[in-house]
Order: sequence, then structure tokens, then C-alpha cells
Amino acid sequence: MSLTYDDISLVPVEISGAKSRSDADTSTGFLGLDLGLPVVSSPMDTVTGIEMAKALDDLGCLGILNRFDSSLEKMLNDDVNTKGVKAVSIGLNTPDEIIEKLLEKVQIICIDTANANNMEVLRKTEQVKNKYGVYLIVGNTANGKTLKQLVDAGADAVRVGIGGGSVCTTSVQTGIGIGQVSSILDVYFAREQNNLPVKIIADGGIKNPGDVAKALALGADAVMLGRLLAGTREAPGEVIKYNGQLWKKYRGSASFGVKMKNEFIEGEETMVPYKGHVKNVINAISDGVKSAMSYMNKLTINELRKTDSFAILSNSSFIERLPRK
Ligand code: IMP
Repeated sequence: MSLTYDDISLVPVEISGAKSRSDADTSTGFLGLDLGLPVVSSPMDTVTGIEMAKALDDLGCLGILNRFDSSLEKMLNDDVNTKGVKAVSIGLNTPDEIIEKLLEKVQIICIDTANANNMEVLRKTEQVKNKYGVYLIVGNTANGKTLKQLVDAGADAVRVGIGGGSVCTTSVQTGIGIGQVSSILDVYFAREQNNLPVKIIADGGIKNPGDVAKALALGADAVMLGRLLAGTREAPGEVIKYNGQLWKKYRGSASFGVKMKNEFIEGEETMVPYKGHVKNVINAISDGVKSAMSYMNKLTINELRKTDSFAILSNSSFIERLPRK
């Protein structure tokens, strides 16, 4: 059985003590940081450059710099103002000299791979952790069976999700992929049963503030967003006018546009409507999550994570939940 966000709904079962949604507190600790809202940006070249990372930091969220465009070079240049950037992504081949220079400026490293359950990834995780003792985000994984190995290797947080990203063609190309709700729950219960000190990042497939609330209620410590943040002013890339509308490019990290090589591709390239400032998107998510917390009488993020009242929706029930014209 594999379920995703549209298959479930939160069920309020308590009398809420909230006078308004502003009584809900979305702040939470995350890898040594105090976040106002547990939202993390995807380390993709059309999502997180320096400007996005700084803007998210200002908004109490966390940006993870991508490793594909010139962002890392800028990080290494002392003339560029990178205050505000707190996390960067690296690949399996990023050399120690670069990591050392990056660690003069950030405290969190994301080892950005499609499949964390691989010996090379475990080796890199172990090596970076043992040598630098830095906070490590490792991914991606879609169930809890290997969680202990990832944590033993040095992962402080795992990106959970394979096949669910909105520009991901992994499932189509390989037949691999599990619904996000099932993946998050599997990793969550593996963590709880084995008492593992690791944060869960729900990564991919989040379409709206309601999905963020669902992911946190399922036990995720943070959500990772690609498409929702792409198309904002602070995302890297130009605004394009086409057919009388404004757009920005959004593409998968394993797309042709990123690889620029005629090799196996597991990502799409597309255009998303231009959305203006990222602040608008983050505020909408914050309002939606706070409102969910108030309905559920879970007035802190830790309480929200302990939610145990969900419904599995029938198809007609799902359709009924959508606004009609
Ligand atoms: P979205 O928020 O649904 O757009 O998903 C973003 C997530 O998709 C990222 O954080 C990655 O985990 C995943 N992703 C990014 N690029 C690719 C790709 O090229 N193929 C498969 N998954 C990808």
C-alpha cells in the first residue's frame, strides 16, 4: 500500500484552545538553528542560489545552496556577501579543499544524491562527518530499513522521498517510487522504534500549504520545497514573458538542462508561473500551517508532529474537498 498527500486528510478530534491562528507557534529547532517555520529549499539550480538562501534565512526558514550553477564559486569568493547562507549542497566528488573552504562560512552540508542507500554515499557521509564533525543532511531515501546505517554513517537529517518530486521522472523511468505519506511514516516509525537521533525532511510532491501541514503532522521535522519556491523573484533565473504571462524556468537536477550531456535523464524541465517575492509563498504556508494547528489543537510544532487522527480519503471524498465553480 502506498499513500500520498491527496490520499489523506487531518481530522480534528479535540476542542481547540486557540483564540486565533496566531496562537499557533511554528518555531522549531533544526540542526543547530532556530527556525520560525520548518521549511527548507531544494538544492536545485532553479530554486536555491545565494539570494534565495538569504531571503529564506530572513523569513526564518533554511535555504540549501545548489551545487550546479556558480553559487558555490560565489560562496568561496570572500568579496561576495554570503551572510545569511547557512547550508550548502555538495556531490560525491566534491574535494576536501572545497568542503573546508565552505565550512569557514556554513555549518550544514547536504550530500545531494538521488539515492542515499548506496555504499559511495555512506562512505562520503562517514568521511565528511569524521573529518569535519559538521551537520549532515543525506538523501534520498524512501523507507526506514536503512535508516540506522545512514545515521551510523553520520547523517543528522535524511531527505525522505523517491519518485514524488514534481519534475521527477524516476518512477516512470525505473518503476521505483513510494507515495510520500507512506515513505514519511515508514522512516518515522523506524526512527522512533530504534530511537535514532535523526531529523526527517519530507522532500518532494508538496503542492500547497495543506500538504506542508500533513507532512509535519505525519512526523516530519521539516519540509523541502522545489516547485513551490521556483518561480519566485529570489529563485535563480530570468523572468520570461510568454503568451502574455510571466514565467520562470524550473527543472530537475537530473534533467538534460542540468546535465548537458546525452546520458540517462530522470528529470523534467518546465516553466512555472512567476509568483513575485518568496515572502508571499512563505507567509501563505505559515498561515495555512497555523490554521491547521489551531483546528487540530496542536499549538506547537512538536504537538503537531504527534498527530494521530488522519482519514484516508475515498476518491469522491478527495474531489469533495476541492473548491467547485
Ligand atoms: P517538488 O517540490 O515536488 O518540485 O520536488 C522537489 C524535489 O524533487 C527535490 O528536493 C528533489 O528531491 C527532487 N528532484 C529534483 N530534481 C530531480 C530530478 O531531476 N529527478 C528526480 N527528482 C528530482
